[in-house]
Order: sequence, then C-alpha cells, then structure tokens
Amino acid sequence: MSQINYPKFANECLQELIEKQDVFNVEYDIDGYENWFYNDATGLLTFSTGEEEVNFKYLRVGSLSKNSNTWKWSWDNDMISPDAKEKLNCVREFGEKYDFDKLTDGYFESSEEEAWELSAITAKLTDGIGVYRPVSEHLLVFIVVKEFVDTESAQLIKERYIECDVHDYRRIAFVCKHLNHTSKVGFEESFETHENMELEEEEDFQAWCDECEKVRQKEGGWNDKSMVFANIKLVCEQCYFEMKELNLGYK
Ligand SMILES: [Zn+2]
Ligand SMILES: [Zn+2]
Repeated sequence: MSQINYPKFANECLQELIEKQDVFNVEYDIDGYENWFYNDATGLLTFSTGEEEVNFKYLRVGSLSKNSNTWKWSWDNDMISPDAKEKLNCVREFGEKYDFDKLTDGYFESSEEEAWELSAITAKLTDGIGVYRPVSEHLLVFIVVKEFVDTESAQLIKERYIECDVHDYRRIAFVCKHLNHTSKVGFEESFETHENMELEEEEDFQAWCDECEKVRQKEGGWNDKSMVFANIKLVCEQCYFEMKELNLGYK
C-alpha cells in the first residue's frame, strides 16, 4: 500500500477547496443572499432573501469550540443523528487506511486553520462542492455543501419535518387528538414502527388510541365520521415514540 504524506495531502485538499469555493460562490451568488439557515434534520442548507431561496444538501463535518480550541467530528457528537454520522464513514475509513489520527480521533485540541483542513479533506472524499462555516454561539460549525436541490424538491423534503418545542426539527408524525404524554389511551399504528426507522416515500408515522380504534372498527375503516372523532394532529417523530413507549412499554 502506498503511503500518503498527511500535511501534503491536507494542503492539496485545501487548495482544491479554495478553487471549488470560488466556483460555488459565483455560480449560486451566495453572497447575494441576506439569510442562511441549515437544518440537521432535513439536511438542507438554505440561503434566502425574502421569498427567493436556494437550497443544498449538506453534511455536517464537525465543530470547533472557540472556548476550548477543540475540534469535534460530527460522528463523535451525540447530538447528531445516526444518519448524518454515517455520511462521514468514508472519511474515517480513509483515516484508518492511512493511519491519520486526526481523521479517526473524535475529539482533540485544534485550531480554525486545522478545522478548514479537515473540512477540505472531507469535501474531497465526499465530492463536496464547497464548505460553509456558520457560527453558533462559541462554536464554528463546518459543513460540506454536497449538491444543489431545486426549490420544489426542497419544499417536499421540508414538508416531511416539523419543528417541535421540545425536540427541535424532526420528521412529522400523525396521531389522534387523544394521544398524549401523560395517560395511557392505547396505541394503534398503521404499520409496525421502530425508532429511527427509514420510511418509504408514501409512508407516514400514524397512530391512534383505543377509542378511535373502536369507532374505526364500527365505521368499517377511516371515513368522515371516524376521522372527525380522531381529529388527527401533527407531532414530531420523537413525541410519537414517547407516546408509543408510554402506552406499549417499548419504542
Ligand atoms: Zn383517539
Ligand atoms: Zn417532539
């Protein structure tokens, strides 16, 4: 196996990123937008001015703490979803293959310069088109921009998520008005679910209580009458599984 010199490799990635970054900024006129927003649940980075917006898929590389001057890879961060972590597997594997500690250690002392290097390496290994670095309190967050998403597709992705007061952005779930976080009322589902499961395009998390099930049975299924009785409300995925656990004892 041929060896790679880490500093040389990191520097090459950085130079490559600088070129990519110019193309990205010019092609999408990134500086021309007033607002930016990234959402770890949808995986979308949005730049907008009023109604006008441009969206990209991204992957969260990691963050640099200005307080402690430490770098934390996203795969080492408990706040990040398993899905988002998985996208960094190829970087870790590359690090293991060539024995690059900085790509395999989750958390270490670092600097902003190095954070750019790590992000440039990630951009190279994941075919990113640029890197964006929003600031969140004392954290510099580094994200690799993956690909442009047209507005209509971005809208469809966003519609599958909901902002919960407790759990932030999560996938949307549907429950009858009787399901709640404190009392057991039964938990019927449209199909067997488990936490963090992948859903097909046309699938949604849907659950209802025992009373709703009685009405549904009597009506021979979901019709106007049973739907009015259930009066379905929207909750986040996490709330859904908390209600499931309360009623069934498992998620
Ligand atoms: Zn109900
Ligand atoms: Zn919630």
